[in-house]
Amino acid sequence: MNETAKEPTQLAPILTLESKFFWDAATKEQFVCEKCSDCGQFRFPPRPMCPHCHSVKRDIVELSGKGKVLSWIKPVHPKPIGFDEPPTVGVIETDEGFRIVSNIIDIAYEDITFEMPVEVAFAPTVKNKKVPVFRPLSNENDSLSPVGGEG
Ligand SMILES: [Zn+2]
Repeated sequence: MNETAKEPTQLAPILTLESKFFWDAATKEQFVCEKCSDCGQFRFPPRPMCPHCHSVKRDIVELSGKGKVLSWIKPVHPKPIGFDEPPTVGVIETDEGFRIVSNIIDIAYEDITFEMPVEVAFAPTVKNKKVPVFRPLSNENDSLSPVGGEG
């Protein structure tokens, strides 16, 4: 087998009626969120009713994909399913103001710092899906710099 064509082993997301739009968008490399059509607040994680005004109306909006790291750990026991090495798991506060638990990639665990700027990327899973993960924000003033090489 060709090393560069390694099949993904990470588990695919579990779809629910409320969250399907989020995961379908991620597979298309879009980071989206529900936004209340009545009060304008973001609704995350996906849910049927706005916790602020109880509206059931929503818009699906694409987010900046940027945020900062608030905390992070490396779970080593029990061994995470679908990973060769334990992933770094972090709490990311998005620029839109809500928090998401995700994996932090492309940086050594020891080099992560509090409030480090990150941007969304998409990791392949089994069943041809993708899930959002976060990596250190590339320098915005240097848009010509190459994005990190593949594996
Ligand atoms: Zn609302």
